Amino acid sequence: MDYTPVLQQIEHELKPVIGQGRVASYIPELAKVSPHHFGMAVVAIDGSLHTVGDAHVPFSIQSISKLFTLVMALQLEGERVWDRVGREPSGTPFNSLIQLEAESGKPRNPFINPGALVCTDILCTRYAVPENAVVEFLRPLSGNKAMHYNRAVAASERRTSHRNAAMAHLMKAFGNLANDVDEVLDAYCRHCAIEMSCVELAHAARFLVHGGTHPGDHAAILGTSLAKRINALMLTCGTYDAAGDFAFRVGLPAKSGVGGGILAVMPGQYAVCVWSPALEPSGNSLAGSLALERFTTLTGQSIF
Ligand code: GLU
Repeated sequence: MDYTPVLQQIEHELKPVIGQGRVASYIPELAKVSPHHFGMAVVAIDGSLHTVGDAHVPFSIQSISKLFTLVMALQLEGERVWDRVGREPSGTPFNSLIQLEAESGKPRNPFINPGALVCTDILCTRYAVPENAVVEFLRPLSGNKAMHYNRAVAASERRTSHRNAAMAHLMKAFGNLANDVDEVLDAYCRHCAIEMSCVELAHAARFLVHGGTHPGDHAAILGTSLAKRINALMLTCGTYDAAGDFAFRVGLPAKSGVGGGILAVMPGQYAVCVWSPALEPSGNSLAGSLALERFTTLTGQSIF
């Protein structure tokens, strides 16, 4: 299927709404990004690439990194990860402390901040420089050998990450963090500050389209069972506290970030990534959510 005309139609339809919403400002460095960007990339099962707009422009992947830290934690620990992180939607904001206290320091899922901090903790135990391990993991998958994290964005988040520090300390008190809190927070803020384009993210997610094996070099990233589990978690927990509405409107497993990116997969068909920095109150990209909704409607391809 040639997705390019569909992407062009979507960009044209969405012109009036691109820029509506609010760019994340609680990380001061992110507030500098123009809300008027819009890019979208599809990598189909046959490897063909279809793009529109700013699809090649790198942006701050933020919580989309939680998808990849979960994959790496599962590679290291397998199903033991679930002893420390649950797999239920939280029904609370991604940085909420309330549930964590009530549930003895075990985060509801790996895509809210405390869950991702546990996955980062697993990487801290295994790697001397965990953020570099995440970058090294993503470089071959994305096809960008020069990929890096933005030091200014990482430092900006680290200076203001009081809620994440509170969550990390709470989990440490409950015995669910093995490493030094500051070490985990440093690594977390750095992998959130990785910069990738829509094209690179869509390429990096191709193993989730192919049952855990990257179709380019046939590298087995995960077994089919764990790939299935990740797609299920993306559907139920990947788009903040709006995951139910997102499944209803879009019908694809997806992971979003406050940088305005949303990465989604249609198993057996394609990986798609959209970026537009202005967000809905839920934290998902406003134009990005609409674009994916139009994409699955116009193509007639969703998991439902
Ligand atoms: N680094 C961000 C934070 O911890 C990620 C948030 C997000 O994209 O959801 O607040």
